[in-house]
Amino acid sequence: MESALEAQISKTTTVTPPNLPIYSALQAKSSQDETFAGYSLFPQMTIPVRVGKILIGGPAFTVIAGPCAIESHGQFLETAKGVKAAGASLLRGGVWKLRTSPSTFQGLGAEAFGFIKDVLAQTQMELVTEITDPRQIEILDDCVAMYQVGSRNMHNYALLKELGQTRKPVLIKRGFSAFVDEWIKAAEYVVKGGNKNVILCERGIRTFETATRNTLDLNAVVFAKANCSHPVIVDPSHAVGVRTLIPNLAMAAVAAGADGIIVESHPRPEEALSDGPQALTLADFRWMMNRIERILAAMDRPLNRLDN
Ligand code: PEP
Ligand code: MN
Repeated sequence: MESALEAQISKTTTVTPPNLPIYSALQAKSSQDETFAGYSLFPQMTIPVRVGKILIGGPAFTVIAGPCAIESHGQFLETAKGVKAAGASLLRGGVWKLRTSPSTFQGLGAEAFGFIKDVLAQTQMELVTEITDPRQIEILDDCVAMYQVGSRNMHNYALLKELGQTRKPVLIKRGFSAFVDEWIKAAEYVVKGGNKNVILCERGIRTFETATRNTLDLNAVVFAKANCSHPVIVDPSHAVGVRTLIPNLAMAAVAAGADGIIVESHPRPEEALSDGPQALTLADFRWMMNRIERILAAMDRPLNRLDN
């Protein structure tokens, strides 16, 4: 017989959406806003979000992978083919990079649009890329399946409001110093504009610890899964910043009940123009996928796959 705890845990990972109004009035957790009622709207229920061909937040686990930055046609295509063959179902890759130093590689910018569509067509993959400015919505519209709001922009309410006017899914990375409450309310900015297709991403936060780039806050993942209806994914790459430590954190994300992960990979990390130390080689990525699939199998969860 299923225990109460088992029933609760399975609800957090595999619930299909009930046919109920999404924002009915349940009691506010910390907000006075009656319309949005905080985030305890459907405790323990995830409403899946469709990203192109892929449903994120349903029973299947999703792996989004690709380079930190799109550097060239060859690098992007090789990475896309490699991660797809290993089981990734969505492709990531930065066009504009928000770097800490203005002297480091800022992304190819508009130059990348010369070949992005060719890579998507050749691999039949769909793109998740970061939007750094509301003026990019239009130029990105015909090649992205999901807009990514970066950690540094989680508090950019003008950007969130503009994305609320679109109907494309929005992936909101948690600010590296943001409370969980602020992260979920950032999602509400998008939803309030009428766009309910929001996915949350925990990508590590700043703590007193300096041994690794950031600290992966799995508490936030299980909390958000239990207290709001957005799918929640994990970015182990930016969380830890060290290639060799990423696969184990990715497995921990599966075990914690996340809806997916977003991971950086590069065919030759030593040549990467950004975040090389945390890029998995394609062989590392395949190895990690194999381990993830074994954890998923133990949890009776399938992996989202592209058919072709
Ligand atoms: C990224 O995904 O490439 C990125 C810059 O992430 P974050 O915004 O989490 O730092
Ligand atoms: Mn990166």
